[in-house]
Amino acid sequence: MQRVAVVGAGTMGRSIAQVVAQAGLVVTLIDRESEIVRSALERIRAQLERAVERGRLDAEQASVALSLIAVDTSVEAASDADLVIEAVPEVVDLKRDVFRRLDQYCAPEALLASNTSSISITLLGAATGRPERVLGLHFFNPVPVMKLVEVVRGLRTSDETIETAVEFALRLDKTPVVVRDSPGFVSNRVLMPMINEAIDALMEGVASAEEIDTVMRLGANHPMGPLELADLIGLDVVLQILDVLHHDFGDPRYRPSPLLRQMVAAGKLGRKSGEGFYRYEE
Ligand code: NAD
Repeated sequence: MQRVAVVGAGTMGRSIAQVVAQAGLVVTLIDRESEIVRSALERIRAQLERAVERGRLDAEQASVALSLIAVDTSVEAASDADLVIEAVPEVVDLKRDVFRRLDQYCAPEALLASNTSSISITLLGAATGRPERVLGLHFFNPVPVMKLVEVVRGLRTSDETIETAVEFALRLDKTPVVVRDSPGFVSNRVLMPMINEAIDALMEGVASAEEIDTVMRLGANHPMGPLELADLIGLDVVLQILDVLHHDFGDPRYRPSPLLRQMVAAGKLGRKSGEGFYRYEE
């Protein structure tokens, strides 16, 4: 594998492009507008500079990594990639459309991966003529720090595709875990109901947000409480994932907390909007 393309230059896409370049691979980062890709590249540059300041990277490595990243505003720019990683918003129709177009432009042997948190890889594969080369590569935020990559095997994903993806994740110095395509995979199937339960407990007045988080930090040895973590992930993202789990399993135990729905409707999205279960200074 030599050339990688990443579609979507938001929180995840730009950090995935960064770690791919740090592993010495050529990467094209694609988004809809030149302003977005320019600003994403600036943020990658700032991240690399910070890593140099903290002694995690030497200046030469940072400058080589930056030189390996190109940006573009057309999905067609992914046409020479051996692996494409899609990281556009968590909206089924949008992702299916991106996969349909990637299938048209990319070489038949190229692998098409999605960074989706919850959408079916089998469904995305079915939007292409190469479902055996479609898989999930689920990275975690912040990508340079988090070691895990869930490698998701769709119903028609081939063994060869999974083997190549595992090698790729190892090359990025990540720990791959192969999981079957199932709503929320393992990570969000286990994590999201816990966060949702914490929100219900808050709504019912069982304890305050601080108290709920303290219980889970000190009682379960979690590095962050579930409500702090929800604020970090973004309450809109939490709601989207719970909606997918609820819809795809058809099981009421995944129904999003009414308080979560209200907070999203009120624009209280967590850290990114300045307020969620906690308030954040600029
Ligand atoms: P984001 O909103 O920060 O970024 C999405 C980017 O996609 C935006 O820059 C947007 O302009 C771009 N985009 C939209 N339509 C496009 C198109 N047609 N072509 C090219 N670019 C397009 O979102 P994010 O938080 O980076 O999430 C991206 C994906 O990663 C989602 O599927 C999400 O579920 C998943 N994910 C997110 C996290 C997280 O913590 N944020 C963690 C793991 C997985």
